[in-house]
Amino acid sequence: MSCEDRVVPGVRRLSPYQPGKPIAELARELGCPEEGIIKLASNENPLGCSRRIREAIELGVNELARYPDGSGYDLRQALAGFYHLSPAQVTLGNGSNDVLEMLVRTFVAPGQSVVVSEYAFAIYALVAQAVGAGVIEVPARKYGHDLTAMLHAVTAETRMLFIANPNNPTGTSVPHAAIRSLLEAVSDQVMVVLDEAYFEYAEQGGVEASSWLQRYPNLVICRTFSKAYGLAALRVGYALSAPDVAGYLNRVRQPFNVGSLSLRAAEVALSDQDFVLQSRNANRQGRQDMAQRLQALGLSVLPSEGNFLCLGLGRPAAAVYQQLLQQGVIVRPLMGYRMPEHIRVTIGTDAENARFYQAMQQIWTQLS
Ligand SMILES: *Cc1c(COP(=O)(O)O)cnc(C)c1O
Repeated sequence: MSCEDRVVPGVRRLSPYQPGKPIAELARELGCPEEGIIKLASNENPLGCSRRIREAIELGVNELARYPDGSGYDLRQALAGFYHLSPAQVTLGNGSNDVLEMLVRTFVAPGQSVVVSEYAFAIYALVAQAVGAGVIEVPARKYGHDLTAMLHAVTAETRMLFIANPNNPTGTSVPHAAIRSLLEAVSDQVMVVLDEAYFEYAEQGGVEASSWLQRYPNLVICRTFSKAYGLAALRVGYALSAPDVAGYLNRVRQPFNVGSLSLRAAEVALSDQDFVLQSRNANRQGRQDMAQRLQALGLSVLPSEGNFLCLGLGRPAAAVYQQLLQQGVIVRPLMGYRMPEHIRVTIGTDAENARFYQAMQQIWTQLS
């Protein structure tokens, strides 16, 4: 029997998630120092993270031989206080990707289905396929989620519906009122997973968790410390839900899924909302400037509420991506999303944005 024959059918058909190219990898390929390269490919925070985090991590170094608090007590308390919820409504994950996987494993069986939007964050379909569930992909409207069509796509077998708001990689968002209408109308056999990884950057913010969860017991809100808090390396995300949902997630959760340095750092990060505000403001400015300049070049720029822009080139993007790499600029190609004429670029520091713009301008002028 071949290895392929032994693999479970859901996994056999998967293609792996393609992350942004690491700086070190491009440095090796180009044979140049890492300092010469900028990475605008993974929606990381260009401002880094709160300055208070270093101290928290240094204290934690004394405890490296011990297992972390498996219940994440302090961080769950802090998050519950921050959102006016009970700690029993908070589930921590090794990044919110971990939470998304727990949700699918807990609530979707093989043969059942999930509803996603075309161009939605790839992980939803990936984790659903991995458990042998069907994926109903609903055509996007202007690259964004068409919530009415998604609602109508629900079948008797559907158990989960994903909304990324704002969505990655398109940056599009839907108004809270539209999500509310969907929640009012959708069958309560369907868990609605609202992934708000970028809500700190969105003009409308995130949904008001405590009142929404009170009203909609089938709603789960996923958020993360990887983006606006600048802690992508430490892998901390979380779900806010009804307590019974969290109780079941806790059964499949690995007992020590978040490390102790990560728990400490996230708690400190949450307490530094000035840093989040600073990140939000810098991003808004950078996003606006960059969008204007790129539009002036003749590129089409999707309206973005995230910390990145999705650019339509109107020609195959692969060559442009390669040329940017040659200039030491890493962005994200979107072939995997069936958007072969788009690239996604993260809003960086002013210097990084200028460097990207100059490279893009040069490549673009040569092409046209
Ligand atoms: C980045 C991102 C996440 C969060 O990933 P982590 O696992 O928390 O680092 C979740 N959803 C979307 C849409 C994202 O872009």
